[in-house]
Parts: sequence; structure tokens; C-alpha cells
Amino acid sequence: MAEHESLEFGKADFVLLDNVSLEEFMANLKLRFEKGRIYTYIGEVVVSVNPYRAMNIYGRDTIEQYKGRELYERPPHLFAIADAAYKAMKRRNKDTCIVISGESGAGKTEASKYIMQYIAAITNPSQRAEVERVKNMLLKSNCVLEAFGNAKTNRNDNSSRFGKYMDINFDFKGDPIGGHINNYLLEKSRVIFQQEGERSFHSFYQHMSGIRSNVRKRMFKLYLMYQDLSAFSSINDSADFKAVTDAMKVIGFTTEEIQTVYKILATILHLGNLKFGSDGDVTLIENSKLVSVLGDLLSTKDENVEKALLYRTVATGRDVIDKQHTHQEASYGRDALAKAIYERLFCWIVGRINDIIEVKNYDARVHGKNTVIGVLDIYGFEIFQNNSFEQFCINYCNEKLQQLFIQLVLKQEQEEYEREGIPWKHIDYFNNQIIVDLVEQQHKGIFAVLDEACMNVGKVTDEMFLQALNGKLAKHAHYTSRKLSPTDKNLEFDRDFRIRHYAGNVAYSVVGFIDKNKDTLFQDFKRLLYNSSNPVLKAMWPEGKLSITEVTKRPLTAATLFKNSMISLVENLARKEPYYVRCIKPNDVKSPLLFEHERCKHQVEYLGLLENVRVRRAGFANRQLYPRFLQRYKMISEFTWPNHDLPSDKEAVKRLLQGCGFEHDVAYGKTKVFIRTPRTIFSLEEQRAEM
Ligand code: ATP
Ligand code: MG
Repeated sequence: MAEHESLEFGKADFVLLDNVSLEEFMANLKLRFEKGRIYTYIGEVVVSVNPYRAMNIYGRDTIEQYKGRELYERPPHLFAIADAAYKAMKRRNKDTCIVISGESGAGKTEASKYIMQYIAAITNPSQRAEVERVKNMLLKSNCVLEAFGNAKTNRNDNSSRFGKYMDINFDFKGDPIGGHINNYLLEKSRVIFQQEGERSFHSFYQHMSGIRSNVRKRMFKLYLMYQDLSAFSSINDSADFKAVTDAMKVIGFTTEEIQTVYKILATILHLGNLKFGSDGDVTLIENSKLVSVLGDLLSTKDENVEKALLYRTVATGRDVIDKQHTHQEASYGRDALAKAIYERLFCWIVGRINDIIEVKNYDARVHGKNTVIGVLDIYGFEIFQNNSFEQFCINYCNEKLQQLFIQLVLKQEQEEYEREGIPWKHIDYFNNQIIVDLVEQQHKGIFAVLDEACMNVGKVTDEMFLQALNGKLAKHAHYTSRKLSPTDKNLEFDRDFRIRHYAGNVAYSVVGFIDKNKDTLFQDFKRLLYNSSNPVLKAMWPEGKLSITEVTKRPLTAATLFKNSMISLVENLARKEPYYVRCIKPNDVKSPLLFEHERCKHQVEYLGLLENVRVRRAGFANRQLYPRFLQRYKMISEFTWPNHDLPSDKEAVKRLLQGCGFEHDVAYGKTKVFIRTPRTIFSLEEQRAEM
């Protein structure tokens, strides 16, 4: 519970509400937002509402106020959570993680940057040069990743189109010595298509404004629906171009690497202009001059480019032949190539940053344990007009994270109270494991059905996949489709299936599922890129080395890769002590004044915030094993200090707390003492400090 805040700003911790009801929760959230208090706690969880205006609460002076303080000593803030995670890591040698969730535009990425800035600001008091270098790299990496992974969407001018998990490694002194970034599912379809009002990735526009040639700017047609570079006042592409190029240099990308990056962007833009035509049975490239432009950019022979665009090598029995693409296949191949080289470029950039920021030469025997704070900034739950494979993956990811939250916060709490024999009022919450299973279970889950459909030889259509789903999942309480519920008015289309997610119902169109899951890129393109005389480009495509007879027939599908990466992400988070930031977007028009009640309420509901308050209220803020507690506080009580003939640890703790007048605020479990409010701990700490 935060001190130093008057009630005119509402309750700083939702736990303090008079009644835990949605109405009171919303009223408090709204009041605080209107009073410019964008952060509120639920115990140790920070609820944040996007202010959509510059707030004067992130400066040096604020950092100083939070540094080394306990959570409840200051008004709610991201810095307090960052400090708590840092302290847990430093004092108790724990790996911690900060999980930031919320929908697009809710403020996750901004929050993750403030957290990193805070950690950078409070560490390395002795100004060691190597630590400063690492900190600089970690901060600079954001700028590069945002250029290549973010885009303007209708929801957010700087929307992250990939999931990001970043580990920051610390040495025994608590100073950052390196880091590692994991990226998840880049929305690569944006490279070839953008919705009305949206843009492709920032990098393309930065590149074009960096070139500063009007001719070039007018040239790129197909892949960039929005070309007026000055159209968005919130974005300054040419300034960003410079900042990103500088950041890449500082991080340690070589000139040759940076040039290759820009050549790849240009390649994609030119591919966007490439059109195919036909002459009788023969497929042709209409604007064939582009072929030599591409040949130049890719450092390869023009005829190789042309061949890869128009033919593919197929193995039939013992023979290998060149088969000409149809017009349609050639266009499909071109788009797949554009998407694939961008995705590969992005992963390569992440990999290069990792090479450079990775901890090197750390000897745990000399330096003690190397501990970690992880920061997860990942796409929130999405419900669009038209939901496809990407939304399905993203929403599955949110189910996984919700499951982790339930396990860690709700279930573990309850189980611990039961184990310790502390009276506990059972709280009903919805356990979403059933939905996680619906998606990821082996043989039976939606991903498994999809993979099976993709493995069938011959032409498998999206509709056949839907049929298979209907067959397997007809009885599942969280799955339905038009075929299974013909009278359901909310299921408009024959091609939709609907999942009842913990956050609400979402109808997904199966159109494109098979294609996106197979994610085919003809081997001919891989070979083309591998055979480039540009070593940087070549290194991005090692599998191009294989001839057609050597390639694996069944590479892992997009769904399987995503599922595996989510499972390992969750395993990784589960090993750490988690801290949560739950972001809320107050309105759809980026207004600093508007608190749209219904919209916010929906978010509060699907983030499960009310359940969170209930558990927290039923529960105890702090718990410690008796011997540990005694060890820390025995000096503040005459009964326990100096050492008399102490009874059992439990009895001694009881007497100590009685003596301090905290009896009403604690409960005694079998092995641990449970303390209800943080203020009690705060007071114990103060008394201890005064001794
Ligand atoms: P996405 O899922 O689309 O990536 P997000 O949750 O990461 O969305 P952000 O990019 O962090 O959203 O925030 C969107 C915009 O909201 C920012 O560009 C900024 O204008 C504003 N914003 C967010 N947080 C703050 C803040 N703390 N102070 C001021 N403005 C903010
Ligand atoms: Mg973001």
C-alpha cells in the first residue's frame, strides 16, 4: 500500500477498495486516470493506463525517489516494480522477470523502455566502462529493433509486430554485464500487404527517406500502400533513419553489414514492382529490367535471379527437372520471397545484437552467480474484424501467459495456504488450461489437426482443415463453428470457427491457415541467396546449400515452431520470480482526456484484475519461514533479544509480533508466518533500522 498519497487521487492499491466489485474498481481506475495517476497497484502488480501525453514522472529526480525503496513507500510506479525485481535479484540471488501485457496501444513497449532505463540508471555506481558499454548497447538495441519490427497500424503509430523477451544479465555486484533477446512471430505478411491506413515496417520508409531521391521514392509501388512519407506527423522517418543507422554503428554492425541491410530493403521494394505476364504457355517477367537491379542488389547473376523467379527444381524419382511456374505460382513465389528475406533479415539482426551483447568470459566460480532480470513485451489479446492465423497464434500466446499467471498467482497462493493450514476462503476463478489444451494438445489440439492437414499429400484446402476440426472437436465446450451451431447468429461465415477464449469469443477465418502454416519458400530461392557473392547475405541462408534431393520434405510448420517457442518461453518464465505490469488502453483515439468506460471495463475483465484483487485481499502480502523471520527481526523485541532461552521458533515469532502489536495482522502457518499488510513489514524494517 503506497504511502504519501492523499485519497483525493483514489486508492493507490485496489486491495484497499471498500468493496471488491467491478463498479468500484472502474470508478477508482477512472478517478486516478483523470487525476493524472496512471499507475495503481494490486499488491505487487502494477496496473497502468496509457496517459497519451508526456508525463513528468520518469526523470532523474523520480528515479532517485524510488531507488532502493520498498514498493509501498512511494506512490505506485513502474520504477517501484523494477526496483522490487532488482532487489529480489540482488538481495536474494533470484532470477526475476517482468511480464508486461495488454492490448495493442496500451503502453507495453513504453513501459518496458522505462523499466530498462530505470535499471540502467540505478546500476554501475562506480561507472565501470565495460558496464556502461553494455548498458548503452541494451538501450540502443531498442531503437534498431523498433525500426525493423514496428509499424504504424490503425491502433498504434508504433506498434510492435513481434513479441520480445529480453534477459539482462547481472554480475555479483548487481551491474548489467550483458543480455539476450528472444523474438517471437514477426508479422511478416505486412511486408506485402497493409490494411487501409496502416504502413509496412518503419524500416522501409526510413530507408526511402534516407536515400533522399524523389525518383526512388516514387518507384516503389506494390508493397507499400502508403507512400506519402510526410503523412504522419507522429513519425519522422528521416530523423529516425539517421538514429537507427547510428545505433547500428554503435552496437557494432560493420559498414558492409549495414549496406547489406539496406540492399535487402531495396530488394524487397523492387520485388514489389515485379510483375509477371504470359506468352502462350510461357510465364514471363514483364518489367525485365528489374531483374538486373535485383541481380546487383543480391550480388548474383541476373540469369540466376530470373530462373529462380520463373522455375523451380523438382525431383521426380531419380530425375531432377526444372519446372516452369504458372503466372500464379510465380507471384506466390515472389511474395513468399519478399516475406522470407525480411523475416530472415529481422532474425539476423536480433542474432547479431545477441552476439554483441552476450555475456562473455563470465566465470561463476570467481564472480558468483550470474543473475537475470527478464522483460517480456508481447502482443496482447487481439480481436479484429477478420481474425486469421496470426491472431490465433497471438491469442494462444495470451492463453499460455494467463495460465502461467493463474498458476503462479492464484493457484500457488491457495495451495500454500492449504498446505500451511491457514484458513482460506475459496475463490472461484476460471482456469483456462482447457483452452490451452484445445490449441496445443498432441494429436487432438487445433495445431495438431492443422499440421496433419498440411502433411497430407495432394491439394489440401482450408475448408478440409475446418472439416477435420469439426470432426475432432464437435463436443469441445470452447470450440464451435457454423456447421456445429447453425443457428448461432454471431457466427456469420461458413469458413469461421470460434473459440471461447478466457478473454472472450473470437471467430477465426480458416482462409490462409494451411498456407501460412506450411510457410513454403521454394528451395530455388534459398539456393539463389546462398550463392550470392555478398558474404553477409550468404550467411543468412545456410540451408540454401542443400540440393533439391537433400532437403527435408517436412520442415517444422509455423504452428509447431510457434508452439515450441511458447512452451519454452513459459518454462523459462516459470523458473523466475515474476512481476506483472498490466496495461490498459483508455480509448481508441489516443486522447489524454478520454476514459471510455466500456472499453476499459472489458480490458479489466479479460486481464482478470478483479480476481487478482480478491485473491490478494484474501491473502497475505508477505510470508517468511519462522527461522528466517526470527533471524531478521529478533533484535527488535526484548523477548527475543538478547537471546533468552527461546521456545520454538514459531512461539518466539508469536511473542515478538504480540509485543509489537501486530497480532491482528498476521497468521501462523505450520512453517511460515503470514503477514497481511505490507505496512507491518515496513514498520518492522524501520524498527530494525533504528536498532
Ligand atoms: P503494441 O502491442 O501495438 O506494440 P504497446 O502496448 O507496445 O502496443 P506502446 O507502443 O507502448 O503500446 O504505446 C503506444 C503509444 O502510447 C506510445 O507511442 C505513446 O505515444 C503512448 N504512451 C504509452 N505509454 C505512455 C506513457 N507512459 N507516457 C506517455 N505516452 C505513452
Ligand atoms: Mg509494443
